[in-house]
Amino acid sequence: MLDRYIFILLLTVFIVLTAVFCVKSGQSKNHKLWRAHVMLGATSVALLANAVVVMSQFPTLSYVFYAVYYATFDVAVFFFLRFCTEFTGTRKIHPTRLLVLKILIIIDSILCFANIFVHFYFTISQHFINGENYYKPTFLAPYYFHVAISTFMILSSVAILIIKLFNSAHIYWDKYGPILILVILMTALNMCHGSFGWATDKSVLIYALVVLGIYRNAIIYSPDELVHSAMMTFASGLNDALAVVDCDENCIYANELARTLLGLQKGDLDGTDLLHNWCGGKKCIDTPDFVKYVDFKLDEKSEDKPRHLKIYYRRMIDTHGRFEGSTFQIRDLTDEINHIEQDKYRATHDSLTGLYNRDWFTILCENEFKKNPYNDYVMVCLDIGNFKFVNDLFGPQVGDQVLNSIGEEIVKRAYPEDIYGRMENDHFAILMHRDRFEISQFEETEEKMSGVLEDLNFPLTIYVGAYHVTDKTIPISVMCDRAHMAIDTVKGKAGKTIAVYTEDIRASRLKRQDIISGLDAAIENGEIKIYLQAQTDYEGKSHGAEALVRWGREDGSMVYPNEFIPVLEDSGAIAKLDMRVWELACIELKKWQDAGIDDYYISVNISPKDFYYIDLYKHFTGLVKKYGIPAKKLRLEITETAIMMNLNRQLEVISSLRNAGFIMEIDDFGSGYSSLNMLKDIRVDVLKIDMAFLGKSDDDIRSRDILEYIVGLARTLDMDVIVEGVETKEHLEMMKSMGCETYQGYYFSKPIPVDMYEEQYM
Ligand code: C2E
Ligand code: CA
Ligand code: CA
Repeated sequence: MLDRYIFILLLTVFIVLTAVFCVKSGQSKNHKLWRAHVMLGATSVALLANAVVVMSQFPTLSYVFYAVYYATFDVAVFFFLRFCTEFTGTRKIHPTRLLVLKILIIIDSILCFANIFVHFYFTISQHFINGENYYKPTFLAPYYFHVAISTFMILSSVAILIIKLFNSAHIYWDKYGPILILVILMTALNMCHGSFGWATDKSVLIYALVVLGIYRNAIIYSPDELVHSAMMTFASGLNDALAVVDCDENCIYANELARTLLGLQKGDLDGTDLLHNWCGGKKCIDTPDFVKYVDFKLDEKSEDKPRHLKIYYRRMIDTHGRFEGSTFQIRDLTDEINHIEQDKYRATHDSLTGLYNRDWFTILCENEFKKNPYNDYVMVCLDIGNFKFVNDLFGPQVGDQVLNSIGEEIVKRAYPEDIYGRMENDHFAILMHRDRFEISQFEETEEKMSGVLEDLNFPLTIYVGAYHVTDKTIPISVMCDRAHMAIDTVKGKAGKTIAVYTEDIRASRLKRQDIISGLDAAIENGEIKIYLQAQTDYEGKSHGAEALVRWGREDGSMVYPNEFIPVLEDSGAIAKLDMRVWELACIELKKWQDAGIDDYYISVNISPKDFYYIDLYKHFTGLVKKYGIPAKKLRLEITETAIMMNLNRQLEVISSLRNAGFIMEIDDFGSGYSSLNMLKDIRVDVLKIDMAFLGKSDDDIRSRDILEYIVGLARTLDMDVIVEGVETKEHLEMMKSMGCETYQGYYFSKPIPVDMYEEQYM
């Protein structure tokens, strides 16, 4: 009694559930589930039919509903098989096989219903079990056709599930395992039902459970473990450190990065103090979400620089608004920030000395002026006089070492408010308060620095130029230029290395620029002229003259060579001027030659710089050829300084010019750093000695002796001597007594215009 009603009760529950799930799965958007849907529908009918047969008290009713039960069972099992292939992603059943299966099921169903009339499948007989009346089937041989079909389909489904289960990751056991177990259980119980003669078929209940299990696993299944596993993979592969804190403030998870960064142990994730601190000491539950930047050191005492962290704090709240826990996502920005800092450092500092570079120095100075418009400043620039030689002679490494030493010296002597940097090459600049600027301090620096290359026996000259910043609106580069202008005034002058800029310096600089930029036009406009200074014998008769350049300005004023020659030599433009002068001399010689006056010569000056810019041999031979004059008429004056600059090469040039017929003269002999020995190596025709250097000596007698010796030596070497600067009768007599025969000087004539010379001496 109890057995039947409990069974029916359970069955009813399952029927209702199955029917409900059948409807629900029908509503599901997952079209793949329609087989589960049909299966649930068929199962509902099968279960219902089974309920009827269990309750039935009439044999005919039992015949009908057993037929319904077996037929719908076939349908349900068929769709279960198809569901299993779909659910496990197994290869689809071949359409032909499917068709055969469908035909067999239809035949089986027809046979089940035919059995109502012709009892060849099973017969129904009355049984008394536990005092209750049941109508139960007794199976005849043809019924095994039905058993074969359904067993085949169930075993195929079991096989599909087993294969899938063993090929799947552990987390999927939950998905396939329960269904497999239930199907096996159902089959086993079904066999028991047959063998033990139970009143009701308990396997039907398991069958219902299988179907419900399918509903759960296929329709509402959400593999939390998979999601969890995916999250863990994601968290451990994250570029950020991640820590999770539960509602009781325990750190329950930290990925590898977080463990390293925060020093958490794997087994014991006690880092909550730290995380607490980041929450401002409050409990996580009370801390709203935040993003914050912190500088963090794992070991407060360590010397390491702190790491720069960006922390994202988020609370996890469930659907009811209750606090579940919180996450700390920690991004380590240290490398990025270091890169930015390095980039900034590189952009603002000189890589060699570590001082500020020009751009940054400029910006800092400008800011300083803006901040303190009423303070007085001095812009001090340093320049190494012979730095090029340091690089050439000892290599760039030594050069770098020198620059570094200067950088260090500047840093050592700087006051905190000074701004200093390396502007380029060997140029340094310091902006300092005016009351701090003391020349003596720089003298000390210069003294110290000049000894940097003591080991190499090379004295350095450090030039210091200062500009008192009277106008803060001019660009910083102009201030530095002014300091350098001051340096230019002392460069090359013995004993002077420090200079302060004045307006005069600027005026002379402007004049300089005027000269350089005006030269081309001057040549073009005929402003460049030659004056001739006669070279005479004792009687004052002249057969030649020195051409001396004059710049006759448009306004009629005359500019003398000492005003523009040094400037042009400095800038390299001298070659242009000299070529013009030589050409003018040739024009005169040609004119004289054409007039039948052919025993006059003109001597011209060659600047030391000309050797760099002009192929002198080619130029002079070309020139005399062009004007058709004999080479010996154009005498060439070279200073001994020019010769000494590159002795071997100059000797070559001089001898080739001599071979071409030019008369070569050494100008200003004795004033440069030549030695008398030089005369033995060099073959020239004339020595020009300037009387001026006679008077310079304190010891008149001694220098007269030297002069006499030089004249004697020249004569022995078969050279002519011309004395320059003969101003008085005494000069003349003295030089005559020494054996000189050609004189040039104010005593006879100043440099005069060409036509005057022609008038006086021809
Ligand atoms: P320098 O070649 O030694 O020329 C002689 C200079 O001495 C001339 O000065 C001349 O006027 C001056 N002088 C002549 N006699 C006397 C005298 O009795 N007493 C004194 N105190 N001075 C005398 P200038 O014309 O002013 O030329 C100066 C220097 O300019 C020349 O010295 C020469 O080095 C250079 N120079 C002149 N013309 C040219 C040129 O065309 N090219 C180059 N490269 N340099 C030139
Ligand atoms: Ca000369
Ligand atoms: Ca001279």
